[in-house]
Amino acid sequence: MRILLKNQTSAQLHAALAPAGVSPHLARRLLAAAVKRGELPAPGSGLTARLRDDLLALTEIPHLTQVQKVVSPQDGFARYLFQGRGIGQFEAVRIPLLHRPGDLKYVACVSCQVGCAMGCVFCATGRMGFGRNLAAWEIVDQVVKIQADSPHPVRGVVFMGMGEPMLNYDAVMTAIGILSEPCGMAIAAKAITLSTVGIIPGIRRFTAERHRVRLVVSLTSADPLQRRELLPVEQGNPTPDLIQALREYHSVSGQRVTLAWTMISGVNVGEGDAQRLADLTRGLPIKLDLIDVNDPSGRFRPPSRGELDTIQRRSGYRRCLRHAVGRHR
Ligand code: SF4
Repeated sequence: MRILLKNQTSAQLHAALAPAGVSPHLARRLLAAAVKRGELPAPGSGLTARLRDDLLALTEIPHLTQVQKVVSPQDGFARYLFQGRGIGQFEAVRIPLLHRPGDLKYVACVSCQVGCAMGCVFCATGRMGFGRNLAAWEIVDQVVKIQADSPHPVRGVVFMGMGEPMLNYDAVMTAIGILSEPCGMAIAAKAITLSTVGIIPGIRRFTAERHRVRLVVSLTSADPLQRRELLPVEQGNPTPDLIQALREYHSVSGQRVTLAWTMISGVNVGEGDAQRLADLTRGLPIKLDLIDVNDPSGRFRPPSRGELDTIQRRSGYRRCLRHAVGRHR
């Protein structure tokens, strides 16, 4: 089986291709050429014509197929639908960020699975069920394709598309390695956000491995019974244990924990909800991302102005992310 470029970090690539005569420097060139131009580098600088021929036989550069692209006239978000190798299609979203006039950048919101097994009740992807894990290259190529289609640079990546990153951990971490390597997409690790619905073993592994990317955990309710109704993950990952894992993460990383709170009118945006959150997280420095629920079925509605004021005022946090990625957290 041929080695897929864009599916391994340069160090992994070097380990796999060293027997063929590939040096660490050449492995970085191979990754850079695959990511930036979709081809092997030209001969030179450690790559002889003969070695290049060998690599043509040994390796392959896979590509996603873009099935659809829709740009919202309201907010400029561009939604892409991709097909990889395997069943199902998956979505990525290009989010425009205007820091200063004339300085437009993008954040790519990527998927890590086709569908999702987590079954969060307000999430369209959750209703699809689980299809399959994406390979690392299928994650990386979402960013590559978006960058190639864009007039401004992609400076950040968020794992908030389809799927639960902690349940496709190895591929996600490999993809993050490639996205952040200078010879890969050169996106700063701190500009990459991994968002989990709260898989405790994954958070503990993430903590132990001391990754530098930003971690966001979907809490959405500080009442375990209510959370279990909204996020079935609560059943095997109870809130008290989750908060304990986040205290450990904070103590090891020194990072403030970001909690995502999907606001649902009449459900989790009252004074009591804010108070329970404050009680639960006492002593743990957190940042709260308040997100409007986005439920195409219409069963769950975003908060009214009054409810939004209440949760903002009582929790002491500003609304800082308006999620528009077809879902979710
Ligand atoms: S919100 Fe995220 S974790 Fe929950 S079902 Fe949707 S994709 Fe899965």
